[in-house]
Amino acid sequence: MHDILILGGGPAGLTAAIYATRACRDTLVIAEQVGGAASIAHRIDNYSALPKINGYDLTAKMYDQSVSLGAKHKSDKIVKITASGSTKVVETESGIFEGRSLILALGSRYRKIGLDGEDELLGSGISYCATCDGNFFKRRTVAVVGGGDTALSDALFLSKIATKVILIHRRNEFRASASLVSALQNSGVEVVYDSIVEKLQGNPLSAIIVRNLKTGCVINYQIDGLFVAIGSDPCVDLIKEEIALTDSKYIITDRHMRTNIPGVYAAGDIRDTPLRQIITACADGAIAAETASSDLK
Ligand code: NAP
Repeated sequence: MHDILILGGGPAGLTAAIYATRACRDTLVIAEQVGGAASIAHRIDNYSALPKINGYDLTAKMYDQSVSLGAKHKSDKIVKITASGSTKVVETESGIFEGRSLILALGSRYRKIGLDGEDELLGSGISYCATCDGNFFKRRTVAVVGGGDTALSDALFLSKIATKVILIHRRNEFRASASLVSALQNSGVEVVYDSIVEKLQGNPLSAIIVRNLKTGCVINYQIDGLFVAIGSDPCVDLIKEEIALTDSKYIITDRHMRTNIPGVYAAGDIRDTPLRQIITACADGAIAAETASSDLK
C-alpha cells in the first residue's frame, strides 16, 4: 500500500512525485513513458530559466530529481483504475497496485482528422509526431495540419529537414503563440489558410486534396508526408464512469486539484484548465501532491 499513486510520467506526474516525496509520502509513479508527450517536444522556449531546452532533457531532469528524492517508478500500461473506495486500486499489465490516494496525470492523446485511410497510412506517410518521424522526410515535401503551437513548431522544425513544408489551417488566424507566428514568417513554410484536408491519396501517401472553406476551391498537393497536429484529447477512458468531467471530457477539479472523488486528484493536461503548458502542468502536479499529502493527515 503506497501513500500516493501517481498515474502518468509527464511534467505533472513527475513534479507531483517530487513534491510528494519531499512531503515524506511513499510515492509510486506508474507510467508507460517517462516524460509523457512533453518528452518529444524538440524545442521548448517558454519554461522559466531553461530557454531552448528540449522535452527529453527537461523531463529527464524531472525524473532524475524525483528518483533522487526517493520516488519509485513503474513503467507499465495501466488497464484498470478503481478509485471510488478508500483504497485506490490500479491494475497494470503486470500487477495490481494500491494507494491511499491517487493523482491522475495521464495527459492527453493526439487527435485524428478522421479521414478515410488515416489509420492505414500511419507510418506510410501520416505521422502525429514531427520530432519522431521528421527525419524520414529529408529533402521531401510535407504538409502539416493545424494552427496551434504544435502545428507551427512542427512546421518550423520540418522546414529545416524537408525541401518544402505546406501548413494547412482551417482559419485565417493562428491559435499559436505570437513568437511562433512571427518565426513562421521568414521560415519558407507555405501557409494555406481557411482550408482543410479533405482526402488522402495513395498508399504510401502521395497526395492530399485540400478544400478552401471560403471559396470551395479544391487543390491537389503532391506530398510525401502529412503531419497531423490538431490538438489532443484527455486520457480519461479508464476513469470516465466515476469522475466528474466537462463536456469536452476534461477532469473537473477545484483549485487544490481535488476531483469529485475523495482521495483522487488531477493534474496537467487531463484536467479542465485555461492553460496547457509544461510549466502549468508542473504547478498542477505540485499542488495536487501537496493537497494529497495534507489530506492524508
Ligand atoms: P491546440 O492548441 O488545441 O490547437 C489545435 C489546432 O488544430 C487549432 O489551430 C485548431 O484549429 C486545429 N484543429 C482542431 N481540430 C481540427 C480539425 N478537425 N481539422 C483541422 N484543424 C483542426 O493544440 P496544440 O497545438 O497541440 O497545443 C495543445 C496545448 O499544448 C496548447 O496549450 C499549447 O499551447 C501547448 N503546446 C505548447 C508548446 C510549447 O510550450 N512550446 C508546444 C506545443 C503545444 P482552430 O484554431 O480553428 O480551433
